Amino acid sequence: MNKAEIDSLVRAFLVETAEPAKANPRVQQVVVRLVQDLFKAIEDLDLSPSEVWRGIEYFAEAGASHELGLLAAGLGLERFLDIRADEAEVRAGLTGGTPRTIEGPLYVAGAPESTGFARLDDGSEEANGEVLFMQGTVYGADGRPLPGARVEVWHANLLGGYSFFDPSQAPFNLRRTIVADSEGRYRLRSMVPMGYGCPPEGTTQRLLDQLGRHGRRPAHIHFFVSAPGHRKLTTQINIDGDEYLWNDFAFASREGLVPALTRVTDPRALREQGVDQPFASIDFDFRLLPEADGAPPAEVVRQRMAA
Ligand code: FE
Repeated sequence: MNKAEIDSLVRAFLVETAEPAKANPRVQQVVVRLVQDLFKAIEDLDLSPSEVWRGIEYFAEAGASHELGLLAAGLGLERFLDIRADEAEVRAGLTGGTPRTIEGPLYVAGAPESTGFARLDDGSEEANGEVLFMQGTVYGADGRPLPGARVEVWHANLLGGYSFFDPSQAPFNLRRTIVADSEGRYRLRSMVPMGYGCPPEGTTQRLLDQLGRHGRRPAHIHFFVSAPGHRKLTTQINIDGDEYLWNDFAFASREGLVPALTRVTDPRALREQGVDQPFASIDFDFRLLPEADGAPPAEVVRQRMAA
């Protein structure tokens, strides 16, 4: 079939059979377009019925194993949505904030909240890794600090696992909400995270293998930063020096999100921070964009775990 024939076939299947008053126009528009594009791909690539069913079975399995969020990251879909969000902000005249990058599928709402400072780790890995202090200021539209801004932070442990998804960790380990203090500052203590990869036996890695791609992420820390009158920022910072820093299977590394990591060995600084071994320190300020007419919502509505 040619493309015009496919277009009218899909309209005959999905539109001409519909009771217009009962159809959701947006859903109808999207589904018609996606089915037309799928049928054209089947035609162009001469997919066999067995291949088509293999694809359907793949999505069923990926869904049943809760890997569709990971797949979206690995195919670049989540990064593509970020590129479009960046473009929409530029069109709305919004520039200059901390770069956004992907959320990923591992946020959990409801983390313990504190003002100014939080320790993220429960101490169970302290003998195996490096203590991290990270600190900075949340700035707003006018370049002034934003007291009361909410810094939600989450990251993996030294084995690359996230609490709740990794049952060996205590609930909310390495997850906190820090409310910026009266000067807009936040500070956290944790462990320098390690990178991680897709579950090796999972559906995402299986597809990546077929594509000849790895499924590794460089070490990173996730953030949501929000304040009234400002656009919610979804971002990550990377741990500099990771071998996958610019080779992330999820395409989340960005210029401006790789702060310097300094190693502090001065005994007095160790005493001041209450640690007995050298630690890593990262300074990083967040700069939020103001809300603006014409910019699409910065809040992405998606299912997230809450505890
Ligand atoms: Fe992550």
